[in-house]
Amino acid sequence: MNQPRTAVYPGTFDPVTNGHLDILERGCDLFDRIVICISSNPAKAPMFSADERLTMIETAIASNGLQATVEVKIFDGLIVDYAEKLGAIALLRGLRAVSDFEFEFQMALMNRHLNNRLHTVYLMPKDEYTYLSSSIIKNVATYGGDIHRFVPANVEKRLKEKFSKTEGE
Ligand code: ADP
Repeated sequence: MNQPRTAVYPGTFDPVTNGHLDILERGCDLFDRIVICISSNPAKAPMFSADERLTMIETAIASNGLQATVEVKIFDGLIVDYAEKLGAIALLRGLRAVSDFEFEFQMALMNRHLNNRLHTVYLMPKDEYTYLSSSIIKNVATYGGDIHRFVPANVEKRLKEKFSKTEGE
C-alpha cells in the first residue's frame, strides 16, 4: 500500500484559534494525514502548558470531525528532523496578511536547506481570520472581550476560566 501523504503542521497554538483550524481544514483536503506539532519551546513563554494546548486542540478537532486525518503531538527540536521521523512530505503553515511573509520566507528557505525533500506549503485563511492571532485573542480575553467568533467553544470556555481565576486572585 502507498504511504499516506503526511504533512506536519508546527506552531505554538497558544491557544488554538479558528484561523489555525481554517488552515487545518484546508490541509485535510490535500493530505491523507496531518500531524499538528506543538512546540514545547519555553522561550516563547506560552500562557498554556504544552499538555493544555494539546487537550484544547484535540477537543476542537473532535468537534470539527477531523480526528480521522489529524494527530496532535508535542515536540521539541528541529521540525525537519521530527517531520522525517513521521515520514512527512510537507510542512504546512498559514499565511496571514503581509506581517507573516518575511519570517515565513526565511523559515521556509532554512528548512529547505536542512531538508530539501520536505516542501513547505502555505495556505491562506478566510478573510475574517487574516488578522487573527493567538496573542490578540489573549489580549481581548484578558479584559473580558467577546472572542466567540474567533476561537472554538472549548477554548473560549478555557480562557474565561483562566481570566476569571486571575481576577479573583
Ligand atoms: P508560531 O509560533 O510558529 O508562529 P502559531 O501558533 O502562531 O505558531 O501559528 C502556527 C501556524 O499557524 C503559523 O503558520 C501561523 O502563520 C498560522 N496561523 C496562526 N494564526 C493564523 C490565522 N489566523 N490564519 C492563518 N494562519 C494562522
